[in-house]
Amino acid sequence: MARLNLIFICVLLAVPSTAAAAGFVPAAPFATQERPATLLLDASRAADGIMVVREHIPAAAGNFTIVYPEWIPGEHGPTGPLNDLAALRVFANGAALNWRRDSVDLYAFHLNVPAGADAIDVVFDVLMNAPDDDMSTHSIAIVNWNRALLYQAGIDSHHYYVKPSIVLPSGWDYATALRGGARSGDRVDFAVTPLDMLVDSPLDTGRYARKWDLWREGSSFVQLDAFADYPQDLEIPASLLRAYERVPAEAFAMYGSRHFLDYHAMLTLSDAIGFEGIEHHQSSDDRASDDFLTDPDESLAGGDLITHEFSHSWNGKYRRPADLTTPNFHVPQLTDLLWVYEGLNQYLGDLLSFRSGIREPKLFPEYVANVYASMYYETGRATTPLIDLTTGAPHFYLARGVYPAIRRNANDFYSEGELVWLDADTIIRERSHGARSLDTFLHRYTEPGVTGPIVETYTRAQIESLLNGVEPYDWHEFFENYVYRIAPEPPTDELARAGWRIVYDDRPNAFISAEEAGEHGTVGWYGFGADLSGDGVVRDVREESPAWRAGLAPSMKVLAVDGQQFSEDALEYALRRAQHSAAQIALITVQTGWYQTLSLDYHDGLRYPHLERIPGTPDMLAAIAAPQTK
Ligand SMILES: [Zn+2]
Repeated sequence: MARLNLIFICVLLAVPSTAAAAGFVPAAPFATQERPATLLLDASRAADGIMVVREHIPAAAGNFTIVYPEWIPGEHGPTGPLNDLAALRVFANGAALNWRRDSVDLYAFHLNVPAGADAIDVVFDVLMNAPDDDMSTHSIAIVNWNRALLYQAGIDSHHYYVKPSIVLPSGWDYATALRGGARSGDRVDFAVTPLDMLVDSPLDTGRYARKWDLWREGSSFVQLDAFADYPQDLEIPASLLRAYERVPAEAFAMYGSRHFLDYHAMLTLSDAIGFEGIEHHQSSDDRASDDFLTDPDESLAGGDLITHEFSHSWNGKYRRPADLTTPNFHVPQLTDLLWVYEGLNQYLGDLLSFRSGIREPKLFPEYVANVYASMYYETGRATTPLIDLTTGAPHFYLARGVYPAIRRNANDFYSEGELVWLDADTIIRERSHGARSLDTFLHRYTEPGVTGPIVETYTRAQIESLLNGVEPYDWHEFFENYVYRIAPEPPTDELARAGWRIVYDDRPNAFISAEEAGEHGTVGWYGFGADLSGDGVVRDVREESPAWRAGLAPSMKVLAVDGQQFSEDALEYALRRAQHSAAQIALITVQTGWYQTLSLDYHDGLRYPHLERIPGTPDMLAAIAAPQTK
């Protein structure tokens, strides 16, 4: 998403009408460039979880409807947090107006503007912190403008103008891709901005901040802006900073183009806020744990956070599926092509993390092994094609619950999409004898060289045609097989084509270990078929596996293994011992107050995925992950 300004020069044009928006006739906007809506966001108490919005919205006398943004770009769904909008008050010429929520469209508010008034004043509170959606702490606040504005219903957001201002918590620093910021005390006033660009330009503010220039050329730059709960978490090791400094050059080499004026990778470091990344055209809203910059495991597990979102500036923001491109935040986005938008981007964000050295390039095969195994053992793949997951993405992003492997979820079109695009890359490399690669496609996909943040939409047929121009091949059938039909296995030929094969043994996979390090989990998924947390809670059970046959289920907790209190060590010891014995492993479990002893009939020990070289073949993965710049 994933994740996500604005000189209003060439920028706002060029959003063609789309399938989703077919037939859309925009209302005439009362807020214009000459007479914009004004928005003052009082964030002075953001650390306390509350902000106050004051908007002056041009209007006309009579029936008038204002709406709260519902379909949020980068979140790919109707996720506007309506529950966080509170204490709404509306005035005209100083007198309070009654408002009424629409009985079907809950994001819309109807009112009657009295004769003689040409604007309304709107005041409301933004309540910032909800379960799994913390946006502020003692020392950090993330401002997503879509949470802090109402706008005239029915307008085209590219031609509706707002002049935003913010009052920051006292003495806090800030970063944003919004243009023209002029600070006076704790108040910052920004230039008049089209609504779509405002929503596309979040602002991070915090007590403890560090900013690093990653690249600069004339007035253009790429900057990493980090905000932390604790100042010591901003002490990035020099070697990691050097790797981040290589990201822009590697991205320019990969794409051969640039479609931003400047770019802010905005990063919060907070266990309370958690892990998330939302792309924007000239910035990204990246959120990670306290020790993201200081713990090497975090760079392995989440090392593509910033590179993934940065890559979206080209793939997702500049090039965007036609049916995902909408005129405002009320028109539903169609998400079927997220296998390109997110699937391709998962591959490219990962490549940038390896090519820049955030992750060591030699670990790329180990990474691919983890992704491949996770998708190979996703049991829901036997019934559910990838296209169903992308089409249903607004639902699947929010899907929760046990048996996640049967359900499949939004993560699958990232991971499996990565394998599909790796396959496409290896096909192009093999058929062109190394003369061309997916990078060749990316150069053509993101022509011309340098523009501001404009949008060029695409369809599936256009993607296939572009690929065919790079390397003649039946790309339509290729995507039919792996995206549009049930695919019993993820693309498998790519491993051999790249000179590798998958093996399973008892050596931990470096990426699984890094992912599990935070929660001290024990992965038995590829062995006996259950995924347990570090304290024995069953997170998932694979159908028809030894764990399934033993009767393990996601609602249980394992208390003891062969008589020993559950621990990772106790489980590992029992698994190794069972390799040399016909005896079953005894598991004592508890489920809603009932204790059971289950017998696990499993003798294959620990199993983790790795890739192993096929002797005598060229190593394509090394070429793919190698730095492309010097
Ligand atoms: Zn993404």
